[in-house]
Amino acid sequence: MALATAAIVTMGASGRSVHPTAAATLTSSTQTPQAAVKRGFRSSAQLKAVQRLASYGLPLYCGRRSKRMVALTFDDGPGPYTTLAITKLRDWHLRATFFLVGKEITAHPGLARLEESVASVGDHTMTHPFLPALSHPAMVQEIAGARTLIERSTGQPVLLFRPPYESRTPPIDSEVRALGMLDVLWNVDSGDSLGANYAGIERNVIAGLRPGSIILMHENRGQTIRALPVIFAALKRDHLRAVTVPELIAADPPSVAQLQQGERGCSAAPTPGSGG
Ligand SMILES: [Zn+2]
Repeated sequence: MALATAAIVTMGASGRSVHPTAAATLTSSTQTPQAAVKRGFRSSAQLKAVQRLASYGLPLYCGRRSKRMVALTFDDGPGPYTTLAITKLRDWHLRATFFLVGKEITAHPGLARLEESVASVGDHTMTHPFLPALSHPAMVQEIAGARTLIERSTGQPVLLFRPPYESRTPPIDSEVRALGMLDVLWNVDSGDSLGANYAGIERNVIAGLRPGSIILMHENRGQTIRALPVIFAALKRDHLRAVTVPELIAADPPSVAQLQQGERGCSAAPTPGSGG
């Protein structure tokens, strides 16, 4: 968390606004904003909610936690389990967000578009490197190159980003912000990338099922896919709706104060208000 905290301080001090850049992102896309609303962003409210939060240049860890919604997120795909994950989401009438890796999109043609049909998609770099170790041009290419590839593959603008290994620095944050994207992290880790088996993944996720939670999972792991039915049943039992990240922040956006607290902003009591 030390890296993230340093980045928040630095970015908070800069105080720049990137609204014009975020707008340029959309107009330079292969689709009109109206088409974007019809598919990847199901309403203009969702599109605006993402652009507004992206303009602050602070990472998102969770929603405000005042609505019974959670965001399930799946990283590192597409991959061999993508169609299975999509089938399970469809069977349970749930939505999710997939953070895609450029080289996996190329290796599994057609799947990014399939994912976008039931979910939101975000940028998780071209090759999943440890970004702080790269030169500045290489870092920019990893982020911007994947965004372009995902937009070309899905026909939708990409406004969500997740850094591999949660590794952020002020230059990385600046680049994400300059591209008009929102840095989406999480407040609940399924533990699947740390070697948890399906039972452990079920336990870790279910323990974090609270309004506003953003849950980290990986779609390229069989143990994660195996855990989904039990997780989905727990959501139903707790009357929690699984939505995309744009849906979550349109309906239940964190306040600026909450964003500034980083991950700690997810453990404080929910605050009433308009979303700050
Ligand atoms: Zn990853």
